[in-house]
Amino acid sequence: MTADSANAGVLVERCEQCGRVAALARGFCAVCGSHDLSPRVIGGDGNVWSITTLHSRRRDGDPESGTFGIALVVLDAGIRLMVRAPVDLRIGDRVELARPDLHQPASLVQAIRERP
Ligand SMILES: [Zn+2]
Repeated sequence: MTADSANAGVLVERCEQCGRVAALARGFCAVCGSHDLSPRVIGGDGNVWSITTLHSRRRDGDPESGTFGIALVVLDAGIRLMVRAPVDLRIGDRVELARPDLHQPASLVQAIRERP
């Protein structure tokens, strides 16, 4: 792992009835409908499945405006997650996912290139 270990990984929900793990919090299991869910932090290592670059008008004081990458990452745990990414990532690159604070929304998850 290359990110600060306190912020590494992805917060997911695990269904205590069927074991399904989901990265998007829905409040219920999409497989069995159970509401018996537990939050877990799983490893954020994976590979870039696809990537695109978005261009938006830069707004003063808004760090989320401007040009940025959006990558679909397949985690080693088998979950696919759409995340922000550096624009120079390529399909197949090894990345690690991290967020500024594990309790922040999933939309703030960032892909960070793993060091070789
Ligand atoms: Zn379930």
